[in-house]
Amino acid sequence: MTRTADIIRETEAVTARNYAPLPVVIARAEGVWVWDVDGQRYLDCVSGYSSLNQGHRHPRIVAALMEQAERLTLTSRAFHNDRMGPFLNRLCRLCGMDMALPMNTGTEAVETSIKLARLWGYRSKGIPDNKADIVACRNNFHGRTTTLVGFSSEPQYRDGFGPHTPGFTLVDFGDPEALAAAITPNTAAFLVEPIQAEAGVLMPPEGFLAEARRICSANDVLLVLDEIQTGLGRTGKLFAYEHEAGARPDILILGKALGGGVYPVSAVVASADLLGLFRPGDHGSTFGGNPLAAAVGEAALAVIEEEALAERAAELGAHLHDALDAIRSPAIREIRGRGLLLGIEIADEAGTALGYCSRLAERGVLTKDTHAQVMRLTPPLTIGKPELDWLVEQLAAVFA
Ligand SMILES: *Cc1c(COP(=O)(O)O)cnc(C)c1O
Repeated sequence: MTRTADIIRETEAVTARNYAPLPVVIARAEGVWVWDVDGQRYLDCVSGYSSLNQGHRHPRIVAALMEQAERLTLTSRAFHNDRMGPFLNRLCRLCGMDMALPMNTGTEAVETSIKLARLWGYRSKGIPDNKADIVACRNNFHGRTTTLVGFSSEPQYRDGFGPHTPGFTLVDFGDPEALAAAITPNTAAFLVEPIQAEAGVLMPPEGFLAEARRICSANDVLLVLDEIQTGLGRTGKLFAYEHEAGARPDILILGKALGGGVYPVSAVVASADLLGLFRPGDHGSTFGGNPLAAAVGEAALAVIEEEALAERAAELGAHLHDALDAIRSPAIREIRGRGLLLGIEIADEAGTALGYCSRLAERGVLTKDTHAQVMRLTPPLTIGKPELDWLVEQLAAVFA
């Protein structure tokens, strides 16, 4: 423990305290496992908040990173590079869309989608200048920029960081009537997560996305889906919207696992009618679409497709959900989620989720609380059934 304590002391002395990590110092990882500086092994059920769907250091993704690093890492978009085209081609084919705009972090991709929706609102829909409105949901999580926190309903995310960007209207998640009522002639888009993971794995009522799609189409409003956390296999389909017929978005936002857990890669994917609106100079990023990111992104997608990770998530997620249901502890109020995106809501009288996360860490399982009462379980989609059964044993023990 002394190395752990020393490292934490040194780190905290020089690091802004905008996070409250569990006291585990990770030094090495492979697949679904991580090891701390003292050699203790843990099953990673956080997976970089679903950035590690392919597992830690997937050999194919690491090989792509290493090979590309030996050849070319950065050109900037002042020039073409030979990796971005093949990557975005694969991405567009997978999404069934025409074009993509590559960025780095999820937040930047959300910001890009907001700019695109507004641009479409002015150029195509004919919204008067500076009047475009975007409807979003209460309990949303789309990132931490000043614009994005301005329409967060979480006081800690928002308060103290104003003045906030205007042009956003909030409605309850999963309420189609509220969405319809919030739309005005100046509404450019409805921005929503298929499942509100950060807010505690909140599921919308069955059919909500398809109903939102219908309302958006009827009112000439773009449906923008933030699938940064739910996408790329996590929920048991390639994209969470595919669980409902007729919920296809106009704009799809991806990040996290698009970089395979080794590099930040994000993208906005849409039709040529939409992404074709951007002219040179309208938008940019020095690192977006760089050859290293593109090589990694292409390998990350190849692993998801070739190892059928969405199908794995569906099968293993159902198994995990059933096994959790069978625990039947009074400490568990509800188990929610889809595929391998699960949330366990802890009963108030049973203590906080953080307490259970700490006890699980002592048993070699890393999880994290999201809001006081929910523990999120998002293991890599490459997890095997034996590891999943071992995880269930540890959960049963702490909830006994
Ligand atoms: C993580 C996340 C983001 C932000 O992505 P970053 O890479 O942290 O900038 C946005 N939306 C959702 C739904 C997320 O889960």
